[in-house]
Amino acid sequence: MSAAHYALVEAGGTKFVLGLADAGGTILARHRVETTTPEATLGASIAWLREQRVALAAVGIAAFGPLDLDRASTTYGHIRTTPKPHWTGADFVTPFAEAFACPVGLDTDVNAAALAEQRWGAGKGHGSLLYLTVGTGIGGGFVSDGRLLHGLTHPEMGHMRVPRHGDDHGFAGACPFHGACIEGLACGPAIKARWGASLTELGADHPANAMIAWYLGRALANFQAVLEPACIVLGGGVMATAGLLERVRAEAVAASAGYFLGDPAKIIVPPGLGTDSGLRGALALALSSIAEPAAAVA
Ligand code: ZN
Repeated sequence: MSAAHYALVEAGGTKFVLGLADAGGTILARHRVETTTPEATLGASIAWLREQRVALAAVGIAAFGPLDLDRASTTYGHIRTTPKPHWTGADFVTPFAEAFACPVGLDTDVNAAALAEQRWGAGKGHGSLLYLTVGTGIGGGFVSDGRLLHGLTHPEMGHMRVPRHGDDHGFAGACPFHGACIEGLACGPAIKARWGASLTELGADHPANAMIAWYLGRALANFQAVLEPACIVLGGGVMATAGLLERVRAEAVAASAGYFLGDPAKIIVPPGLGTDSGLRGALALALSSIAEPAAAVA
């Protein structure tokens, strides 16, 4: 056995990415496990970590959700209702806590990314940060003074309701719950459902770019009004569209109508963490589980 290490788990819907970090946070080893059933996937993950034969100071799990993060709940650490077969009710925390007898930090992949971006990425040096991913879905996390915002559970920022664009007619929206929430209007599948292609495929001159920027700008104006983040990091596949970030900045300022503080080019920025961003998020959760004993499940 060597000095304490951190076990990192990036739990995704199609694969789990595992990592092992040393006491200084350097990622020493990585491994992938296919997401099948909870028993098989969590079992294979724990088996790989055991094979590393190191003492663990903490486990950090950045997971797909929705998760029960209410510490008073008997199902804390379990997945709530999900359309993903086999995973509703799956317990992420107990198998790792029992296997390694150390704190287990669990949160959503989006919240983990928010924490990591504030600690090491684009939000370094800022006291508060909003991370919003615009891709297969839309999700967000907010960090203030190193702590993630939680309510009854993690925020569901993608389901924010926004006004309709004046030229937007005939599209019900892609969210199975709300139809035209911000995710239902502006996530990748919504763009494909509406125009039959991604923004990149449609090209920069297609009016879809302006409409999606308009919607995201309204959402950011709402987040600004509620949270006033010093830094807004926009990630995800849709945000990789050339020119979209600049359009969203302009729309956020316009929608805020005088209430947008600071330079939008400095506040609304792309992610600072590239490769290993998911594992860095899991590392941030592992470190938080030690820094805040109340957050630890031993
Ligand atoms: Zn929704």
